[in-house]
Amino acid sequence: MTQQKTILVTGAGGFIGSHLVTFLKTKGYRIRGVDIKFPEFAKTDADEFEFLDLRRWENCLKATNGVDEVYALAADMGGMGFISSHHAQILHNNSLINLNTLEAARENNVSRYLFTSSACIYPEHLQETTDVVPLKEEDAYPADPQDAYGWEKLISERLCMHYREDYGLETRTVRFHNIFGENGTWQGGREKAPAALCRKIAAAKLSGVHQIDIWGDGEQTRSFCYIDDCVEGIYRLMRSDFRDPLNLGQDRMVTINQLADIISKIAGVSVKKNHIDGPQGVRGRNSDNTKLRQVLGWEPSISLEEGLTKTYEWIERQVQNERVNSRAETV
Ligand code: NAD
Repeated sequence: MTQQKTILVTGAGGFIGSHLVTFLKTKGYRIRGVDIKFPEFAKTDADEFEFLDLRRWENCLKATNGVDEVYALAADMGGMGFISSHHAQILHNNSLINLNTLEAARENNVSRYLFTSSACIYPEHLQETTDVVPLKEEDAYPADPQDAYGWEKLISERLCMHYREDYGLETRTVRFHNIFGENGTWQGGREKAPAALCRKIAAAKLSGVHQIDIWGDGEQTRSFCYIDDCVEGIYRLMRSDFRDPLNLGQDRMVTINQLADIISKIAGVSVKKNHIDGPQGVRGRNSDNTKLRQVLGWEPSISLEEGLTKTYEWIERQVQNERVNSRAETV
């Protein structure tokens, strides 16, 4: 009988990490989860879960000790509001996390390492119109990401490449395009557009005040990928022989206004959109999935409507619970 592999998932208390742990358990691995917080919305499926701050070298050594493979998801991150206003903190924290985790993986003879990069590495000048040309992997250079978050991801991508070339550590790099789903941050300032819109529309529906705020004119465009496709894609990439960075996302582009309309329809409520000042990120962004299809013989297939239905229902329940709890506190 072959020995069960042990996998480290860093950021296992976060949105994608907690779903990934559950997915990898179904594949029969033994899982060590590491984070500075437990998953907020569901019990972890990890066999062991350690609280370790991965900015610290000794914690990275402990986290990677005795594991066969690493899925590195830990990051100090959030939606546009957070990313556009915490450059120093993000660059400092994420650099330390990735420098130390990768080096510790080498020291502990890890055989395979997946780094989670982002569409935020792509140059700003390729994303200045709403009807953008979808971004291909090779568009990353010459480099000009919009924020410190993207610069750090790009440097860590290169670090993975050099560790592979110089030390023979098998690294894989995935560039996510807007992943969404249940059990993710939906309030507090770090939430992303799909979760924020679900929350605002649920609050509008439940309060009877049928209006929501949208940052900017709402005509900025993005593609959105549901979490179940995301974890499937990560796993397929990790098992593949492909070593260069690979996009992972949907290639159906919608405006933020259209996203709000889809969610309103799911919620069964019509809302007035108030367009207010706020950070919007790049004007348009879409994923070119040509290489994804070639390399993995697969691409995300869960529709935006299907993913948003599940996400909206979950967030409406959270909003409802909060309303009940805050009423109970005031009684
Ligand atoms: P998340 O914020 O839900 O999860 C990240 C986790 O990392 C959090 O639980 C956080 O507590 C943990 N973390 C932060 N600092 C840490 C530290 N010092 N030590 C240990 N753990 C620490 O984010 P997510 O959406 O699950 O993203 C996972 C990865 O995917 C991140 O690397 C992120 O940059 C990347 N990514 C996500 C998206 C997306 O759309 N969600 C898009 C592009 C890239």
